[in-house]
Amino acid sequence: MYKDIATPVRTKAILEKYGFSFKKSLGQNFLIDTNILRNIVDHAELSESSGAIEVGPGIGALTEQLAKRAKKVVAYEIDQRLLPILSETLEPYPNAKVIHSDVLKANVKEMIEQEFAGIDDIMLVANLPYYVTTPIIMKILEENLPLRGIVVMLQKEVADRISAKPSTKEYGSLSIAIQYYTVPEVVMIVPKTVFVPQPNVDSAVIRLTIRQKPLVEVKSEEFFFRVTRASFAQRRKTILNNLTSQLDNGKEKKEAILSALQTAGIEPSRRGESLSIEEFAALSDALYESF
Ligand code: SAM
Repeated sequence: MYKDIATPVRTKAILEKYGFSFKKSLGQNFLIDTNILRNIVDHAELSESSGAIEVGPGIGALTEQLAKRAKKVVAYEIDQRLLPILSETLEPYPNAKVIHSDVLKANVKEMIEQEFAGIDDIMLVANLPYYVTTPIIMKILEENLPLRGIVVMLQKEVADRISAKPSTKEYGSLSIAIQYYTVPEVVMIVPKTVFVPQPNVDSAVIRLTIRQKPLVEVKSEEFFFRVTRASFAQRRKTILNNLTSQLDNGKEKKEAILSALQTAGIEPSRRGESLSIEEFAALSDALYESF
């Protein structure tokens, strides 16, 4: 039996052996609690025939736990200094593969075709680098990859925004973008003490179950997201004022905006934060021909 990577003693020994120094700019906060890692993996509900994709393996703490449960793990790591460490720590796990790449620049779809051929249950599981949490999640969702879901550690504040319901202060265009593609659930709140170094913010684990089809059907996804972003540009403004000031030529098209609001059954004096995702879909469809 190998000793788990994610214990304070083993992690310290590995870091010292390689003279590794953390790069804050890469969001390097490593997990040193095996129970938390096992819990994260539990929430991914993997089986021996599952595949797992990881972003940022660090020294392999989560990768190891994934490799013990899944058929295959592929992890993207941007920091070249971690590659020799990972070769050593993951040596006992031939089903784990590390790709040296910025995940934001990687062709994940092609990787899935090559590495996960014959595997039809794939989860993305990661302790994300906090400086790029949202771009990573959005990239994965927008590329429409064949995944069952995503289980990730992130800033608690972002987890709250992702899972927020209308008429709360956390609800915004991020809640809508993610709920359009997935059903989010915050499954764990995680204390700072389980990381080295400790992050400045509180953390949470969120599970995003990917919907078979998006929550609402819209004429144009691109325009729907443009309308939602415009509607939250200034939270204290009414939906009418945000749309007239934020959409291209919105001021000249005020009549069209008023008429679309009426078609969608939305009072112009409401604020964006009070609109459900279904209402945003009706509004964006009613406005679409005018823009
Ligand atoms: N999985 C490890 C753990 O839980 O202990 C490390 C997690 S640490 C929060 C984030 C990791 O992501 C670091 O190893 C960092 O180098 C890597 N990383 C940062 N930006 C990345 C990017 N754009 N693409 C791939 N990996 C990245």
